[in-house]
Amino acid sequence: MSVQKVITLAHLYQREMNIYGDTGNRLILEKRLQWRGIKTRTVIVGIGDTIPPDVDIIIGGGGQDAGQLLIEKDLLKKSKMLHQLANDGVVMLMVCGLYQLFGRRFTTKDATQISGIGLMPHETVASGKRLIGNCVVDSPFGKLVGYENHSGLTTLDDQSEPLGVVIKGYGNNGDDGKEGCVINNVFGTYMHGPLLAKSTLFADELLLRAVKRHGIESLDVLNDTLENEAARLAMLRPR
Ligand code: GLN
Repeated sequence: MSVQKVITLAHLYQREMNIYGDTGNRLILEKRLQWRGIKTRTVIVGIGDTIPPDVDIIIGGGGQDAGQLLIEKDLLKKSKMLHQLANDGVVMLMVCGLYQLFGRRFTTKDATQISGIGLMPHETVASGKRLIGNCVVDSPFGKLVGYENHSGLTTLDDQSEPLGVVIKGYGNNGDDGKEGCVINNVFGTYMHGPLLAKSTLFADELLLRAVKRHGIESLDVLNDTLENEAARLAMLRPR
């Protein structure tokens, strides 16, 4: 399939919020579109930059508490637009630190409140320990394999939908067995890795939701032999 439509990706705070390969999620989405003959445009959106209004997919990564403090004010300035874009069905994938700030707030260990934009129905409070290690999650988009490292414990509001159920690891808080959060086309997760490298079903779900907004109803099948083998091996890793 060859489509003239250009899919626009925006990467939020690549400089401040990018650990454990999270930028790879963007590269994987770009590649999986390009391999199908779909053109892409990528806009890096940092502090003070404007999110392109015609954006189709927004991705963001994790970072230290210090990185979250650096972007807090700017993210709040972008809040209204992000809410509008989410309502319009723009696809978003936020990992760890940005997942936390897409909720209402993150309270750090020294009781600093970092305000979130309340786009996702949850709150996060730092714990005394780090939730760290390889993780596997059962989701509607297949098994997701990643690596988590956070002190924040995230609690979803009642009735809100997690991304999946923890098979191995801690997930949102190590207690309720839930990992991540989904609201419409907005996805949050603690899984680094980059997550999408080994989760092609999930990557394609994000892409399909994005291209459908342009009237494209299906995506060509790719040969994911290597990706699937990487996922299989990653799932065998010890905790
Ligand atoms: N600073 C946050 C925490 O430790 C997020 C960490 C991350 O993005 N990996 O909970």
